[in-house]
Amino acid sequence: MLLTEAQQIEAQCYCTLYTRTPLMLTRGEGMSVWDDQERRYLDFCSGGRAVNALGHCHPKVVEAIRRQAGVLIHTSNDYYTEPQVRLAALLTAHCACTRVFWCNSGAEAIEAAIKLARKHGKRDSADRVEIVTALKSFHGRTIGAITATGQPKYQQGFAPLVPGFSHVPFNDLAAMDAAITDRTCAVILEPVQGESGVYPATPAYLQGVRALCDARGAVLILDEVQTGLGRTGKLFAYEHYGIEPDILTLSKAIGGGMPFGAMLAKEAVASAFQPGDHATTFGGSPLSAAAALAAVSAIIEDHLPEQAATIGTQLRDRLTALQAQQPLVTGSRVCGCMAAVDLAAPIAAAVKADAQERGLLILTVGDNMLRLLPALICTPAQVDEAIAIVAQAIAAAADTLTATPA
Ligand SMILES: *Cc1c(COP(=O)(O)O)cnc(C)c1O
Repeated sequence: MLLTEAQQIEAQCYCTLYTRTPLMLTRGEGMSVWDDQERRYLDFCSGGRAVNALGHCHPKVVEAIRRQAGVLIHTSNDYYTEPQVRLAALLTAHCACTRVFWCNSGAEAIEAAIKLARKHGKRDSADRVEIVTALKSFHGRTIGAITATGQPKYQQGFAPLVPGFSHVPFNDLAAMDAAITDRTCAVILEPVQGESGVYPATPAYLQGVRALCDARGAVLILDEVQTGLGRTGKLFAYEHYGIEPDILTLSKAIGGGMPFGAMLAKEAVASAFQPGDHATTFGGSPLSAAAALAAVSAIIEDHLPEQAATIGTQLRDRLTALQAQQPLVTGSRVCGCMAAVDLAAPIAAAVKADAQERGLLILTVGDNMLRLLPALICTPAQVDEAIAIVAQAIAAAADTLTATPA
């Protein structure tokens, strides 16, 4: 099928929700994807949005899916299946939160976390139902998750939202101190704000919020849907901070590309859930769980968090050097395999399009920021190749800026 035909069908048949890149991808392997013209691209988005931590079609994940697809694709949570149970044992052995609920996406993991936090809060008092989250956060697109998300643009047009939520500036401990009351059941934070531009929590902030939650009887929910499973250079981002969450959400990387998610909780909080309180048809499905078991095993056994940390060091060096020679680059933030580049002019879309022409896929945040999310298997040569292309694309955009009459 040609790209033009796909675009025509989209125009006729789809809800108008996505602003797609005019590119039809047909296959992927490792750090590369190919389009319908057999052009190769270096994928610095990890399959769009930080999903393919192991790159595209990792042999262990492909093999696990093949094997499981021939045996049992789906059955419900009324029964036991081995991939799901093995995954639970593996993940909880490596996580501060030792009870798990499987779901299919990041937003579903957040929904489960909200329900558990409220059920737990009510063990203390019927009023303990309120939730504090950060401005510029991103927690997903269901009605509960957009209420938690501290960005008006995601909430616009969907009122009434879920009652009981408030938002405070990120990395502002005094604001959090003022927001947590004896009606607060939970605080939800990303250890590194991902979608809004790779903004890490400071250690003092996250440790301070942990102490406030402990002092006031609220649970700390860390949304590690994007940061979890090695991307920041540790298996979980909370390990950088010397604190532990009461509830942790995972998705994106966990399924090796299959739709999968998890909400994990400490025993003392998880015990608030009783049989029937929450459930899902597809969560933990054997096919997805087999893929997730292969993906999580590979991330741990192949020491990919350490590799992500090494890539992060190289990315930081290269982006600092780029800033020194390109005045349009005004800053950068790097956290393992998450990086953002601030631009002095609204050229992000032009840079992204130009990078694509040069064989590199990247992401933008707004008009003035680029985001790079390479897979954890990325090589030093691929980092250099990507940064060279980004530098060329920014230089090309700079030329059009100066060429455009004011
Ligand atoms: C992507 C993301 C989500 C939402 O995940 P979906 O699978 O799209 O529902 C939630 N939280 C964070 C931190 C994310 O990056």
